[in-house]
Amino acid sequence: MPLLLTILGARPQFIKASALTRAIAKKIDLGWSQSIIHTGQHYDAKLSDIFFEELNLPRPDFILRLQSSEREARMNEMKLGITNAINECSPDAVLVYGDTDSTLAGAQAADELGIPIIHIVACLRSFDLEMPEEVNRIATDKLSSILIAPTTTAIENLHNEGIFGNAPGGDIMHDNALYFTKDMQGLKSKSVLLTMHRPSNVDDLPRLESWIHSIGDWCMLHHVEAAFPVHPRTKKSLVALFGLVWSQVLLKKNIHAIDPVGYIELLRLIKTSGLVITDSGGIQKEAYSCETPSVVIRRNTEWVELVNAGHAVLCFEPKDLNECANAQFGRTIDGEDVLYGDGEAADDILRIITEKLS
Ligand code: UDP
Repeated sequence: MPLLLTILGARPQFIKASALTRAIAKKIDLGWSQSIIHTGQHYDAKLSDIFFEELNLPRPDFILRLQSSEREARMNEMKLGITNAINECSPDAVLVYGDTDSTLAGAQAADELGIPIIHIVACLRSFDLEMPEEVNRIATDKLSSILIAPTTTAIENLHNEGIFGNAPGGDIMHDNALYFTKDMQGLKSKSVLLTMHRPSNVDDLPRLESWIHSIGDWCMLHHVEAAFPVHPRTKKSLVALFGLVWSQVLLKKNIHAIDPVGYIELLRLIKTSGLVITDSGGIQKEAYSCETPSVVIRRNTEWVELVNAGHAVLCFEPKDLNECANAQFGRTIDGEDVLYGDGEAADDILRIITEKLS
């Protein structure tokens, strides 16, 4: 039975892995088995364990415990652990998702051992080399043997770089959002879901403060409450800005800070909100999957089709938030334009992998 070794390490990857794991179980005739390695990049229970439970992911066969807090040393620890796992289970291919440090560490370890690399959610470009994710994406694409691009824009990006990828009929995160919301009631309320964790927004304290004020002022003006699941990185900055009373400061602006939530609760919040304000790559797309308009608080996005269709608007300056939120709040998304497939992309991906590796 051919074996895939899947490298997971961060919250968005646990979610991405769920769709293909279901496809592997469903398409028994294709004969694939899967081993999972958890690199330990996100080890916090709220960013890790809950996803394995909710998404029905098998427990990892290998779990790394990273000792270092410095990036280069952590990359080396991950590479060593992945190399050991590859040597132990001799996979037919190593599968990496997205654009995190775990993605790149997995690709580099497999490349050094000459094992085929499958990169899923490949070929995206924000054209912003200041984003560590962009650097990871480009490097991983260059090392990979099979590139699975989720959109036609991603395929064009690749052609422009002189490499060639494969286009399944959509994106696996959209598969998951549809799968896990199929029985969910989606009555829109007058509320907002807010998330932010990109270093460019939250490590720069004056900028973070400006976002809190502009988003909070907009919420107050429109008598809207915002739910704000706070990423650990963002929490550190909020404590540095406002002290231990940070959540009280936010509450005075109608922003309810909560701990990070599980995937199902996150989808419920998106589905029942009138607007999503986010800098997350995944959540801007999940907003579309749940037919909720969004304001993406970034200079650029790798999911350009959302902006082209008007489902998301980019807002780089906190002073522009009012105008952007006014334009998007309550906007209807009818889901008639099929940007990311029909929810069955994972089956297609498994078929492509089988053809390419046989
Ligand atoms: N997510 C979640 N709970 C939260 C915040 C995010 O389940 O409190 C999920 C959400 O589905 C998102 C994924 O985690 O698509 C990755 O989110 P994150 O914003 O951390 O990473 P990015 O997509 O920007 O790489």
